[in-house]
Order: sequence, then C-alpha cells, then structure tokens
Amino acid sequence: MGDFLGYHCSVCKAEYPPTQVMYTCPLDGGNLDVVLDIKQLKQKYHVSDITSRKETSLWRYLPLLPVPLPPAEGTPLGAAGYTPVYQPLHLAEKLGMSRLWVKDESRNPTASFKDRASAVVVARAMQIGAKVIVTASTGNAGAALAGMAAAAGQKAVIFAPRSAPPAKVAQLLVYGAQVILVDGNYDQAFDLTIEASREFGWYCRNTGYNPFTAEGKKTAALEIWDQLRLADSTVTGRPLTVFVSVGDGNIISGIHKGFRDLEALGWLGQMPRLIGVQAEGSAAVANAFHAGSEIIQPVQAQTIADSISVDLPRDGVRAVRAASQTGGTYVTVKDAEILAAIADLGRVGIFAEPAGSTALAGLKKALAQGIVKPDDPVVVMNTGSGLKDVRAAMQAVREAPVIEPSMSALKKHLESVVP
Ligand SMILES: *Cc1c(COP(=O)(O)O)cnc(C)c1O
Ligand SMILES: [Zn+2]
Repeated sequence: MGDFLGYHCSVCKAEYPPTQVMYTCPLDGGNLDVVLDIKQLKQKYHVSDITSRKETSLWRYLPLLPVPLPPAEGTPLGAAGYTPVYQPLHLAEKLGMSRLWVKDESRNPTASFKDRASAVVVARAMQIGAKVIVTASTGNAGAALAGMAAAAGQKAVIFAPRSAPPAKVAQLLVYGAQVILVDGNYDQAFDLTIEASREFGWYCRNTGYNPFTAEGKKTAALEIWDQLRLADSTVTGRPLTVFVSVGDGNIISGIHKGFRDLEALGWLGQMPRLIGVQAEGSAAVANAFHAGSEIIQPVQAQTIADSISVDLPRDGVRAVRAASQTGGTYVTVKDAEILAAIADLGRVGIFAEPAGSTALAGLKKALAQGIVKPDDPVVVMNTGSGLKDVRAAMQAVREAPVIEPSMSALKKHLESVVP
C-alpha cells in the first residue's frame, strides 16, 4: 500500500486529510487527486522492486496504490488488470505505421477497463467497512462493480439507464447486484445515485466523483510503462502517444495520474502524449479543449458508443489537462468511423465495443491530419469487449448469407461472392 497522505482539489488546490469518505471538493465540486507520499516511496522502492513483482494483475502496483491489498487471491477481484499488449502487425501495415500496440482491456474479468476502478474502490470499501457500494453506470462501470463486489462478497447497487445494451444489464443481474434501471439518461442516473448514497449512507463509486476510481485507472499507465519498458529505454526523439476514448474523462485522467506519479518518482524518461478521442455527438471535453478552456459545457449526447455517451463529463477539467499538459490533443470521430474501426480491430483478432474501437478511429483521423507520424510509437487502448454490444457489432460488418444445406447451393453461393 502506497503512503496515502490525503486529497488535493484539482480546481482550488485545497488539501484534505485522508478522511474515510471523501468525494469531490466541498468548496467547488472539483475532482480530488489522491496524494501519495512520493518522497517516502522514492526512498522505499527502486524501479526493479515494482517491475520484478510476480503478480499478473493490477495488484502488482500495490506499492503505488492508496489502498491495502483486499483478500482477493484466486478471485476475479485479484485478477483485474495486467491486460495484454498486442502488436498487430497487419493493422500497423495497413495504417503505414511501424510501432503500434493495442492494449486490450476487454481481457479484464468483466470485459472492460472499468474493472481497474471498481477493484480499487471495492478494496477501499472493505478497508473502511462500507456495507453497500452504489454506482451509476452506462453499463460497464456497473458490471465491473457488480463483478468485483460479488468476488469480495460485498453488496452492490447499480443505477443504469434503461437503454443500456442488454448484455451489460445481463451482467449486472448475473453478478447478483441490486439493479435499478432509470427511465432517463446516464446523467440523470448519476445525480440520483449521489442523492441515494447521501440518503442511505451507501459508499458511492460514481466515476468522476469518487477519487479512488482514477487511482485504479492509473494502473493502465503503470502497465504501459512496465510492459513497454519505458523506464529503461533511453528515450530519443518522439514520445509514446496513447489514444484513449473519453466519456466522463476519468480514464484519461487516471492514465495521466499514473504517468504523473511515475514522473514524480523520477521513473519516467519522457511523458507520453495523451490523445483523447470522443464521438462527434458526445464531445463536451473535446469542445472545451479546442476552445482553450477548462469550462465544460454540457451537450445533448448522441452516439452509438454508449459507454462514452455523456452530456456533462464529470471529470472534464482533468481530462482537458491530460491532453494539454502532455502535448496531446482531442480528436472527434463519427459513428461510422467508430463502426469501421470495430471491423479493423476484428481483422486482427480483437473484438471491441464501439467505445473501445473509438480510440483506433481517433488514431486513423490523427494520422490523416498529421497529428501523429507513421513512425511514432503509439498505444491504442481497447477499453471494452465487443460481446458487450452485439447489436452495434452487427452494424460494423456485412450480414452472413444463409444457404440450403447442399453442395450445389454452396457452389452457387461461392461463385456469386466477389473475391
Ligand atoms: C467508461 C468507458 C470509457 C470512457 O471512460 P471515461 O472515464 O468515462 O472517459 C471508454 N470505453 C469504455 C468501454 C468504457 O466503459
Ligand atoms: Zn476545490
């Protein structure tokens, strides 16, 4: 467990002690950063103390986390994170790139990036003796909390919009959470969850509200650093660029926090460039970034990528900074480009949900606009599994033909297909 000093408001810079239950800044609603005792950590650890650990989960980075290890061995809670980094050569070739990696978050226990946040929040809930954990979710955060809580024997309550994809709702129910579908959008479910957590004393995991979610999400940055050996490469030339899709902005903020922790420890050669990708129809953070502003104006979100369909991003300020402070940027993509990227990833054996393929769609746009060069080293985050939303997946591909079960029908079909 990393030495946890307290919280720091990202807006007014107020400091708060490591109080048990703390959400956003009481003064201005700003998102709170968890502050670790970097000086102490620097004295206690060397890079190799982290990179030589045996754990193949996010608990590998326990020394840099503000929670104690939960009793999770042999359970999905103990298995979150440490997802594979693929080098899809055929995709790189198609894009004309020489150094392309895809970090596949669909390989998490509940099949999305959200397991990282939920695992750390469940560990925190166990530490402080919380009886019930609640979250609002477009689906994945809820599935992750439901799954991680089930693994820990914790009670979870999930609020999701009734329009959530059926596979995600099925996951929530199968993991045994108390599921409440809200006849409204994610933003309305979010506000209701906060009211309910106050009223009933439930511990609230909401993204961009609970400071521990970003601590969980930062483990993806620690893994990129560990798996691509960013500590021992003497960096010359252009930095690593990371593409990630953005809804509430908590994943990109968490990844930024992970790299900032490493930088503060003196363990990072060069800060990677973070590029956030939003759907054109849900682009509140991208709008603020390109206006040179930290004021996030809500939109009326509309996109096929349900996991990043957000009217008012709850971690927008830090999400803007994740790009502005790393030499990154924001790009936006159309739903058709998101669907095309599902097919691109599928061709190299990676099955992404729309919000997962959005990052690759963003890379294609950034290449076309010269924002990244073909020989830049690039990591694309696939944040969620295609099995989460098969309706969208079917829109990314042509329908399969149906034939009579005979050789003549098969031959007729094969002749009719354009090679
Ligand atoms: C939640 C989610 C995102 C976006 O994360 P934010 O923290 O909301 O920006 C992207 N992709 C998937 C699959 C998600 O579930
Ligand atoms: Zn504040």
